Amino acid sequence: AAGTHVPAIVVGSGYGAAVSALRLGQAGVGTLVLEMGRAWTTPGPDGKVFCDMLNPDRRSMWFRDRTEAPVDGVLFLDLANRPIRRWAGVLDRVQFPGMGVYVGRGVGGGSLVNGGMAVVPDRAYFEQVFPTVDADEMYSTWFPLANRALRVNSIPEPWFEGTDHYRYARLSRTLAGRAGYGTRLLPNVYSFEHMMREERGEAPKSALGTEVLYGNNHGKFSLDKGYLAQAVGTGNVTIAPLHRVTRVTRTATGYAITARQITEDGTLVAEKQLTCDHLFLGAGSLGSTELLLRARETGDLPDLPDEVGEGWGPNGNVMAARNNNLHEPTGFKQSAIPVLAITDPVRDVIAEIAPVPAGIETYVSLYLAITRNPNRGRFTYDPAADRLDLQWTRAQAAPSVAAAKGLLDEVNAANGTTYRYDVFGGGKAFADDFCYHPLGGAVLDRVTDGHGRVRGYPNLYVTDGALVPGSLGVNPFVTITALAERNIARVLADDL
Ligand code: FAD
Repeated sequence: AAGTHVPAIVVGSGYGAAVSALRLGQAGVGTLVLEMGRAWTTPGPDGKVFCDMLNPDRRSMWFRDRTEAPVDGVLFLDLANRPIRRWAGVLDRVQFPGMGVYVGRGVGGGSLVNGGMAVVPDRAYFEQVFPTVDADEMYSTWFPLANRALRVNSIPEPWFEGTDHYRYARLSRTLAGRAGYGTRLLPNVYSFEHMMREERGEAPKSALGTEVLYGNNHGKFSLDKGYLAQAVGTGNVTIAPLHRVTRVTRTATGYAITARQITEDGTLVAEKQLTCDHLFLGAGSLGSTELLLRARETGDLPDLPDEVGEGWGPNGNVMAARNNNLHEPTGFKQSAIPVLAITDPVRDVIAEIAPVPAGIETYVSLYLAITRNPNRGRFTYDPAADRLDLQWTRAQAAPSVAAAKGLLDEVNAANGTTYRYDVFGGGKAFADDFCYHPLGGAVLDRVTDGHGRVRGYPNLYVTDGALVPGSLGVNPFVTITALAERNIARVLADDL
């Protein structure tokens, strides 16, 4: 309703947003969460909430005519991408020149679509990235809290060693070992207990049924099941899905926002004005930065810091595909949840072994490499188009490609294998033109103070991946969660 006032508004419902909503709710603060995507609770005609990767439909992507999965095809098969109806699907690819950024759309944000890998960063690297954050406190309090709240678990090693579904990962380990590289198992928020029951036929298949990227119907402890369910359970938090915040202005005592509510088909239902005392931006690196940049450039919040938009990076993401020898197949049964990574301490690469859940033998090994690329992009705002732009060039990805290629060249040399050029489109073996880990745009201690309070604007906060300056060395959501926990604890103690 127009003119409604709530004590706190949280924009978005990913990791930073969900943490803030829960802790505000527990503190007794009436909180409204506005999320542009839908609530993924009602099953479609097939009885499932999400579609799988092999049969994508309108649920797969955010208002597209065709799916845009990162793996375009394998051999002559167009395995992945299909025409679909335009709808409020769960995965978006926001396209900038030279960089496509994948993000989740829905109540739960990236937790709905991601691979669930829950990795605490190397402490020395964390200290470099966040020199002003008390690392002792992070590693003794906030990382453990995040791991517990997200229900992070580890794959039982005997099962990993025996199951057909991780043959692809064990093969990549063997090939890396021949080149002298070690591997490490990565924790996850997907329940391995559930995955083992899937294999035994005692639970419905999700990870073992080619589900990830467009959502998991079972097994994954996503934010809607954890933080957000608990937040609503406090009785103080309401979540409004299909509400996109487009504008933030100041009032005498707080902030006013404009939100556009749509149907799942994209029809505008209402444009609402809401006011609040405390405003938490948790719309992700792209979403929170866009709101701040637009507010600064249009004069709504003219005194926002110059650094808004700076410090963006794709966490050094590069994907690569190799071809295996015919006598060393990957296996046609592949769990969609990655659990193993090759480590290259010299080049500072972790190459996560990604599945190719095609249901047939492809002889392809796929890697998501996280590299420590120092290059940063920056967001700008185009007032004529009312659009966020990203200044990032393919040349800036070159150090990431070089590092990943250095590692995988050695793996190929040790095994007499080659790259695959038919996987990403454009005839390239390394995909440096998209990322899963957008970070930065409202960097901690630059745009905000040391706890996410936006400089110059009391009671306005950034809670999400926008705070992280471009690179973490590992998958980001545990860090985003832990940092949000740390920040909201201080904000609740001092500001509310
Ligand atoms: P997000 O989770 O991106 O949430 C932001 C939310 O805000 C979204 O729901 C969005 O719809 C909403 N929003 C945006 N703008 C607005 C607006 N104006 N109004 C209202 N709502 C808005 N990370 C890992 O750590 N491990 C992994 O295994 C992993 N795998 C990944 C796989 C894929 C395919 C993808 C896409 C990402 C993966 N990630 C992974 C990255 C991880 O999901 C993100 O880093 C994380 O979700 C970012 O959290 P966040 O709080 O910054 O925002």
